[in-house]
Amino acid sequence: MEGKENEAPAIGIDLGTTYSCVAVWNRNRIEIITNDQGNRTTPSCVAFLDEDRLIGDGAKNQVAMRPASTIFDAKRLIGRKFSDSKVKEDMKLWSFKVKEGADDTPKIVVIYKGQEKEFLVEEISSMILGKMKETAEAYLGKVVKNAVITVPAYFNDSQRQATKDAGTIAGLNVIRLINEPTAAAIAYGLDNKSDIIDKIINVLIFDLGGGTFDVSLLTIEKGGIFEVKAVSGDTHLGGEDFDNNMVDYCIREFKRKWKKDLTGNKRALGRLRFACENAKRILSSATQTSIELDCLHEGIDFSMKFTRAKFEEVNMSLFATCIKTLENCLSDAKMEKSWVDEIILVGGSTRIPKIQTMLREFFDWKELSMSVNPDEAVAYGAAVMASKLSGNKENSSVQDLVLLDVTPLSLGIEITGKVMSVLIPRNTPIPTKKTNSYCTADNQRTTRISVYQGERPRCTDNHLLGEFTVSGFLRTPKGVPNHNVCFEIDANGIITVTAEMLFTGKTDTLTITNETGRLSKEEIKKMVKDAERYKLEDQEFKKKAEAFNALEDFIYKKKNKLKEYEVQAKLDSKSLEHIERAIADAIEWIEDNRAAAVDEIDRMMVFLEFVCKPLI
Ligand code: AMP
Repeated sequence: MEGKENEAPAIGIDLGTTYSCVAVWNRNRIEIITNDQGNRTTPSCVAFLDEDRLIGDGAKNQVAMRPASTIFDAKRLIGRKFSDSKVKEDMKLWSFKVKEGADDTPKIVVIYKGQEKEFLVEEISSMILGKMKETAEAYLGKVVKNAVITVPAYFNDSQRQATKDAGTIAGLNVIRLINEPTAAAIAYGLDNKSDIIDKIINVLIFDLGGGTFDVSLLTIEKGGIFEVKAVSGDTHLGGEDFDNNMVDYCIREFKRKWKKDLTGNKRALGRLRFACENAKRILSSATQTSIELDCLHEGIDFSMKFTRAKFEEVNMSLFATCIKTLENCLSDAKMEKSWVDEIILVGGSTRIPKIQTMLREFFDWKELSMSVNPDEAVAYGAAVMASKLSGNKENSSVQDLVLLDVTPLSLGIEITGKVMSVLIPRNTPIPTKKTNSYCTADNQRTTRISVYQGERPRCTDNHLLGEFTVSGFLRTPKGVPNHNVCFEIDANGIITVTAEMLFTGKTDTLTITNETGRLSKEEIKKMVKDAERYKLEDQEFKKKAEAFNALEDFIYKKKNKLKEYEVQAKLDSKSLEHIERAIADAIEWIEDNRAAAVDEIDRMMVFLEFVCKPLI
């Protein structure tokens, strides 16, 4: 059995819509781990190619060449139904194919190794998590098992469950899901501990990333007690929406100028999206830029000037939504804006100048805090939490950290007239447990319990989490409570619902199954196996590529040597001819045997080494 010293410390992963980041508590401090390309964040992108699978930078770099096989935005899909209007909207601009699977589940369709394959969103997210796990393992030199993964504060139960399942499929033990803004607050609190140790401060985290938007209001007490007062947000608003609006604008311009619609051209859309994101970043520091794409559609070159003012105009309504959400959060927390001590920006999209100006204006020109790195703060906080939960004994700041989070959305069940009966209102501190008694119609022996999450009074406008039937009531008249429903939210924000029959003591627990989009244990097991198989295939492909490279390198070197020997007549002509033929045969063999296994390539190498021995 492995000893504790061989166990890698628990890691913190920020699984972002566009970029992910991994960190670890190591040598008494947090380290952001760089990936194999030397980057501190990794694109949340997976590409399926003819021979192999690329994850991260490699996948993102070739997106314009193979847009249909390059998957991004999994976080915008996770825990959602295919029929969700937001999914339908996104699909119009995605260059990859999404189809409807069983029970309204979205499935991503790609051509991988020449065959059509379908993946669930959890599987794609697990590939990104697996990449982050590998990045940490390469750095720590140990197998990583435990991880804290962050989710947007505004994620509902389905989105949280699906993220946790993705972690399991990646071979991780998810010790806790924590909210992204809370993680960022931890990073801020720990970095500024000496300044805030003897105060209670009100901190606003404004987290605008690639695909999600969260606002959280927290108090930090004695530098180590983090209490979330309220959260608000939109799990479908972020940098990608700004890109989409730019893409839409360009499509309209193209149509106006050339009378041609390029929306059906997936490759053109992929290229345009890439160019727009680039232009958007430039517009955060320059006031104008241009988008130039040769042969974009039907041989037509596209060239357009994009000013910062135009960018702001096409996105103004989204920017205004961000400020409205911020107002809601303050009002939920019953806090005046003047009481906010620190405004902390998290997420790449907070670099947009207009967003910063609107925020400063809202807070009567108060300065924004730039003390945390917007791209890394979330992973940093997750790693602190991972260390705390694994019993860090080295550091008192980590040991003393107390986190009091809240549930972002109200939770309830459907009662007569499709009305939502709320058991746990939004912004209730978690973990929490609440029980209510309910009655049925006269002498009714069974009832169906439908669990919803959301803020609307009518259930059908909220998110259905699951349904279950409770049976075996004693016959009771209408109006007499005959069952209790108990809702429990754990520290991950994940919900369990239990129904208890009064008078009989019988209990039923809601297990959210396939019917509601949740993966079953068997499915997860199968996906874990598939993920391991894909990983082995990737490793095999890498080994093969290395073996071919080594063989080709050897051949190239020996060919040069051979020339040198021929010129200087160092060997007899028969031997030289023999070597020359063997090298030519090996080159031909490589061309004809690209699918050869590693041991065949190795055998060819051994043979060539033997034949070329006279060339020292
Ligand atoms: P995150 O999910 O926090 O990594 O944020 C990624 C999002 O931030 C993407 O939509 C990026 O396009 C966006 N982003 C990164 N840098 C900038 C920048 N300088 N200006 C505008 N948006 C940016």
